[in-house]
Amino acid sequence: MKLPEIQRRKSRSVRVGDVTIGGESPVTVQSMTNTRTSDVKATCAQVARLSAAGADMVRVAVPGPQDTAVLAEIVRRSPVPIIADVHFHFDRALEAIAAGVAKIRLNPGNITDREQVKRVIKAASDAGVAIRIGVNEGSVVQRREGSQRSSDLARPLVDLMVEKLEEYLELFDAEGFGDLVLSAKSHDAFTCIAANRAIAGKWDFPLHLGVTHAGTSDTGAIRSAAALGTLLGEGIGDTIRISYAGDPAEEVAAALELLYSLRLRKRKGVDLIACPTCGRLEMDILPIVERLGEALAGIAAPLTVAVMGCVVNGPGEADSADVAVCAGKGRAMLYRRGEKLRTLATDEIVSAVVEEVRRLANKK
Ligand code: SF4
Repeated sequence: MKLPEIQRRKSRSVRVGDVTIGGESPVTVQSMTNTRTSDVKATCAQVARLSAAGADMVRVAVPGPQDTAVLAEIVRRSPVPIIADVHFHFDRALEAIAAGVAKIRLNPGNITDREQVKRVIKAASDAGVAIRIGVNEGSVVQRREGSQRSSDLARPLVDLMVEKLEEYLELFDAEGFGDLVLSAKSHDAFTCIAANRAIAGKWDFPLHLGVTHAGTSDTGAIRSAAALGTLLGEGIGDTIRISYAGDPAEEVAAALELLYSLRLRKRKGVDLIACPTCGRLEMDILPIVERLGEALAGIAAPLTVAVMGCVVNGPGEADSADVAVCAGKGRAMLYRRGEKLRTLATDEIVSAVVEEVRRLANKK
């Protein structure tokens, strides 16, 4: 029986270089470099790594003129569209647009002079550059004396975020600019969900989803998966960033895994599944799974490989996998699409599975 697909919210499409956000396009993944942008060599190397990991777009911070001064070269060398992250200085936005970025991220709340924002809109419009208007919890909350924790204020906070976006959108609307992506981020997953639900019901602009200040991967990955998974499951969200302190290439891998899990993107490579292990385990499968993960990483075929630690669930899993091994004492049974092939010694497992996967991949 075919499972029903997630019904995505209808949003307008916005071009970001050769990538489309929203409309009928698949949910895209973006990440952000953590190098000094002015260090062209390091930044370009990281952009290339993020692109190789699967990022559709990469954002770079441009806090100073030394950063926008090198943007044209970064744009030229990047395999994916570059987004400039502008916080306080409208000059940086103008310089980034002139340097050829495909999109800028702007928090109009940080630029108090409306004439300056209008100049950015005009420049983006002339250059065909998209803009993401981001409101973050931190930028909208006016710290009140004796204020409660933000998680207790989720509802008023959401109202405040929507009001801020409304105010900014009036400005863009008055200038006739519609190539916009919206975002509303908080460190609190619950607030993120509520804010994005409210925004999704109000406008048709594509939405960029993310949890901000999510911490390290230990907390950040789960917080992001909770917020983004809930929203994506409801069809909300057109581009995502999972962010936490650490290697941004891991953020990209986590974001892609989330989209694969919800069937919002098709996995390009091998899906390696493994049993979680329990007291019935007949063989230490973890090193085998790790070695298989590395050995299968370069194979682009959409095949499923299962590594099971005992015979209890092994044959059942083997039925639905393209290639499976099911461990017994000191040996394992190799399966191809449910059919038993042969018994393997422990040290033969990795090479035999890889060989079988390659054989199937070459048949496609
Ligand atoms: S396959 Fe066997 S070892 Fe692995 S979790 Fe299931 S019962 Fe436990």
